[in-house]
Amino acid sequence: MKLPDIIIAIDGCSSTGKSTFAKLLAKELGLVYLDSGALYRAVTLFAQEEHLISRMNIIRPELEGALRSLPLRFSADNRTFIGDRCVEREIRTLEVSAQVSPIAALPYVRNFVDEKLHEFGRQGNVVMDGRDIGTTVFPDAQVKIFMTASEQVRAQRRYDELVAKGENPVMEDVVENLRQRDYIDSHRETSPLRQAADAYVLDNSDMTLSEEIAWVKGLLRGKYTIYD
Ligand code: C5P
Repeated sequence: MKLPDIIIAIDGCSSTGKSTFAKLLAKELGLVYLDSGALYRAVTLFAQEEHLISRMNIIRPELEGALRSLPLRFSADNRTFIGDRCVEREIRTLEVSAQVSPIAALPYVRNFVDEKLHEFGRQGNVVMDGRDIGTTVFPDAQVKIFMTASEQVRAQRRYDELVAKGENPVMEDVVENLRQRDYIDSHRETSPLRQAADAYVLDNSDMTLSEEIAWVKGLLRGKYTIYD
């Protein structure tokens, strides 16, 4: 499928399958995939390792200054790096998930991540997923998709993902983490999780990944002149 230069913004609650969908979509359309959540997760891992966040989620003010020299980047195959160190595995644990939303609610953290996202997305031709991509980061994105799924489906997906990574999660903890993150993400003052007025809603509770891709291709065909 050949498209004009576009940005596709994909937002939605935790574990709606945004990154799996966005990654495959980018591959099918020949666009670059950018996972904004990975940057918030990497900032959280950094804060934990530097002892700048306590178990009670008390965040030390030194984090703001420390971010200035935090070298975050993505590799060509979408892995997240802090300098030369690949942190892809460490940022996906339940420990990081448990503390990422309070960190992501801080305005200076959001500014830091937004700058990176603009830098990485500057050339266009990207699919970016997160919570505020279509509302704040790229409000002029040509295509906005808001993903939803039932809580049961989302929790099961997250649980399976953790098991596949060799973790030993407890379902109640997984559900609790989803609820807490969704609550904090949609109630924070700066760039809360919202559906953009011009977003297309994709409820994938009962859809396969290939059905989701077919859905978005249909949407793109209706919007653009597409050459297969
Ligand atoms: O997408 P993922 O679940 O990996 O994101 C982790 C966390 O990062 C979210 O729960 C949210 O707190 C934060 N986030 C955000 N804005 C984004 C992407 C992620 O606040 N655009």
